[in-house]
Amino acid sequence: MAPPLSPDRFLTILRAEGLTVIEHGDWRNHNRNHKGPWGPMHGVMIHHTVTRGHDYTVDICRRGYGSLPGPLCHGVICKQGHVHLVGYGRANHAGLGDDDVLRAVIAEQDLPPDNEANTDGNRHFYGFECENLGDGEDPWPPEQLLAIEKVGAALAREHGWTERSVIGHLEWQPGKVDPRGFTMASMRSRIAARLDDNPQQEDDMPLTTEDKAWISGEIRDAIKELVAVEVLTKDGIIDNPNPDTADTNAYISMETSLRNIEIVARRADKTSADVKAKVDSLSVGSVSPDALAEILADKLAARLSS
Ligand SMILES: [Zn+2]
Ligand SMILES: [Zn+2]
Repeated sequence: MAPPLSPDRFLTILRAEGLTVIEHGDWRNHNRNHKGPWGPMHGVMIHHTVTRGHDYTVDICRRGYGSLPGPLCHGVICKQGHVHLVGYGRANHAGLGDDDVLRAVIAEQDLPPDNEANTDGNRHFYGFECENLGDGEDPWPPEQLLAIEKVGAALAREHGWTERSVIGHLEWQPGKVDPRGFTMASMRSRIAARLDDNPQQEDDMPLTTEDKAWISGEIRDAIKELVAVEVLTKDGIIDNPNPDTADTNAYISMETSLRNIEIVARRADKTSADVKAKVDSLSVGSVSPDALAEILADKLAARLSS
């Protein structure tokens, strides 16, 4: 089950994909929700408008016309490659389509022929109307095709779908021909390549406060372990075992420690046990500072890339 994205999230992921997004009126609340349910979402549907003229196209998709009230989609993709947001919620774009197609979209399988009009598509698809006459001659500028690719990839990635969840109106409803002038198969290959190249856009994610606390805690633990290992393998310094002076004198020399051999012995036993427990928990076979450093580096790397 995939509930519709919030309008803010919808806007955010489109911009994060590098799209120029232009908001029109109260698009967040302009919809046909009084006519039926919206969601769960299963895919993205691409259309052509059969209109000419940038502003006219955006306006008619927002307002609709006579027998077909707007919004006629969520976003209008103009020839310049902008995404104009005109509505959010149920929109009059998909109409009735084929339930076998919907099942294939949900299962991310090859589409069967659309030969039935028995299923409410406005409920389950994000809709994008693309400015084009749809006569097979009106060109599709590269900017516009790139915007369609980005819209499809952004929504597919966000919902955990593949490129197979992006379909054309002509694949949904018998008798429809849109979009005309490029194939949906070619568009899906582009979307697949885009999803492969950039499986998740987390490279620029800043570290959270929790991440930083975890890292500093991990480093602190590792330093303590390294100190303990040094003590156990050769003469050197050791944590001051005397709680009365530990605050002002964190470490004392082994020579000094020998004056209080009992405390040192107890401390060494405890340190040894602590180090062994820690090492066991890290699944390493022998105690060496190098091994510990390596484990720490791996753990940090895993944490940072997770
Ligand atoms: Zn259409
Ligand atoms: Zn535009």
